[in-house]
Amino acid sequence: MEPIRKVRGIRDIVFPESAKWDEILRISRNLLRSYGYRSIYLPVIEFSNLFSRAIGEDTDIVLKEMYNFKDRKGRDLSLRPEGTASAARALIEQNVFSGSGSEKIFYFGPMFRYERPQEGRYRQFHQFGCEAYGEKSPSIDAEIVGLAVGVLLECKVGIPELQVNSVGCRECRSEYKKTIKKSIGGKLSELCDDCRRRFDTNTLRIFDCKNEKCQDIYKDLPGFSESLCASCKEYFDEYRKYLDEMQFEYRVNSRLVRGLDYYTGPVFEIDISGSTLIAGGRYDNLIKQLGGPDVPACGWAFGMERLSELSCLEDFSSPQFYFATMGDIKKSYILRVLEKFRDPKDGLDYAVEADISDVKIAKKMKNADKKGYQYVILIGEDEAENEKIQIKNLRTGVQTEFSVNDNELSKKIDGMLEGTR
Ligand code: AMP
Repeated sequence: MEPIRKVRGIRDIVFPESAKWDEILRISRNLLRSYGYRSIYLPVIEFSNLFSRAIGEDTDIVLKEMYNFKDRKGRDLSLRPEGTASAARALIEQNVFSGSGSEKIFYFGPMFRYERPQEGRYRQFHQFGCEAYGEKSPSIDAEIVGLAVGVLLECKVGIPELQVNSVGCRECRSEYKKTIKKSIGGKLSELCDDCRRRFDTNTLRIFDCKNEKCQDIYKDLPGFSESLCASCKEYFDEYRKYLDEMQFEYRVNSRLVRGLDYYTGPVFEIDISGSTLIAGGRYDNLIKQLGGPDVPACGWAFGMERLSELSCLEDFSSPQFYFATMGDIKKSYILRVLEKFRDPKDGLDYAVEADISDVKIAKKMKNADKKGYQYVILIGEDEAENEKIQIKNLRTGVQTEFSVNDNELSKKIDGMLEGTR
């Protein structure tokens, strides 16, 4: 029978990549927790109008990339293309803002966009994101950039290129739109159909266009920073002062507008080797726009696939053992040894995969090697009789005997692992 294959643009994440993801998640969650962020688990399916209202009717994501479908009662639903709209919806619905109004959250999960699949771009991809609601201060905008850089450094991702900009408030945007319209006016006929339509409906979205001819026309347009009002400019300058104090190298890219409409004020992107890894900024109108109170917010998200690809983390799993028996060994002894190795109370707390089947020992050793184990715990009839174990290092061939009742067993095994790692 023909095997069933996975859908185009969608990947399976298997070991060792899955172990790397686990480690990246552990690092990210710990870092965020240490700044007072708490986890949130969000649904994958939402009503479609959540995204058109939050991300914007005229964005590429909403117009071209959403997985939309009707349920059995004919309601319009979508697979989420990003996490912020869902997070904002959930916090409003859970009445989180009725108290202090501030909340810091992080989330992780699959997102869906019908984009052209290629290296680093998938139709199902995973984002880890964080959001800080209820505070409006350049220091918090800078703090979230610090967290993003912190995650990359701890995940050994290399030197990131940080780009920042401010997309200002409504007034700045309307001023900037006027400047753009004036500058492009005469070249309107040279733009692609999408850009001509956007020129009237949602002018700033022209920067999303991937058409080279359009991009060529846009490259000489004035940047956003020149259209900022006095208060947005002051806010942006303060934000940059914080970044300077944190000693971050960054570049102001005054054409950085991001592909989602909800941003207001400072935005940033961290690129490595031409690929955007983490992106985010401030979105003060989003909660209100979705029917909630007036609560300012900022946050970011990184793509797990891209970050994992660039991360040099290794040795991310704790030392693990394959456990193999030879001959007819008493079950009670097997269970005693396994429990000793796996139980943190005994000071060992190792991961042990056990093979106590009747299969020949040579086959068990081959299995352990194939699965990438470095150490095999061996128990034959002699060992069981004398309450001993043998540990074989498959890479060096060295075999060491230990007594299960040795009070120093944990220390001795740690020593062996240290010596051979
Ligand atoms: P965005 O929600 O568009 O601001 O994207 C945030 C991050 O998600 C990006 O910086 C990427 O790391 C990641 N990302 C976005 N779209 C994709 C995709 N189609 N495939 C893989 N990663 C993606």
